[in-house]
Amino acid sequence: MSIQDRIQQVERRIEAACLRSGRSRDEIGIVAVTKYVSLERTKEAFENGLRQLGENRWQDAEPKWRALGGDEAREEAVGRPIWHFIGSLQSRKAKDVIGKFEYIHSLDRLSLAEAIHKQAVRLGLHVSCFVQVNVSGEDSKHGIGPGELHTFLESLRAYPSIKPIGLMTMAPHEAEAEATRPVFRRLRELRDEARAAKAASEDFIHLSMGMSGDFEVAIEEGATWIRLGSILVGKEEDEQ
Ligand SMILES: *Cc1c(COP(=O)(O)O)cnc(C)c1O
Repeated sequence: MSIQDRIQQVERRIEAACLRSGRSRDEIGIVAVTKYVSLERTKEAFENGLRQLGENRWQDAEPKWRALGGDEAREEAVGRPIWHFIGSLQSRKAKDVIGKFEYIHSLDRLSLAEAIHKQAVRLGLHVSCFVQVNVSGEDSKHGIGPGELHTFLESLRAYPSIKPIGLMTMAPHEAEAEATRPVFRRLRELRDEARAAKAASEDFIHLSMGMSGDFEVAIEEGATWIRLGSILVGKEEDEQ
């Protein structure tokens, strides 16, 4: 299936989910996750209007980042992708991605906050970050525990280059998408509680949740960014 057909199909499903939940389509951004596909396919996705691209490892992202604008385009957001770092980030790798990725979806510890902040200060910029929460409590998942959120947000104030803009989670892999609903709902509640307690700034509004298998449920529960890989840009084998 062509990228254009994929985009159209996904769009129809997003619009239906918006309709079911009384939301407006412009409340939801799509991060096109290109981690499974080649540079050519990534270019094709971008040229077909997917401007927000997500990667989870700098080694894999680097050739794509360079080919699609790299340093020359750093100053202008027009004509190049906006990059989202969605994978877990080692503190010593923060210097590779800060200044190149506009959004970090995986802030899950203070040592990483410190590393991001240091590099951001060096470059004189602010970095929009999602705090990753392990709502489901699975050992295999990254993220802070829901009970740690308020303290974590308070501690982030020591790193003023970091702009906490919301929360991110990954739902457990379920055969039935519906089973993920409580996880997404809990993330929304956590955001609302943090806002009510003034634990974060006015910019703390986003929910990065929902992937290929569960994005419709995530939208119904309030996602403002969905992260779509296989369903949208496909996987390597789809390129043959
Ligand atoms: C790979 C990945 C995605 C996209 O996965 P799909 O199921 O292919 O849509 C989304 N978020 C994160 C954090 C990922 O690592």
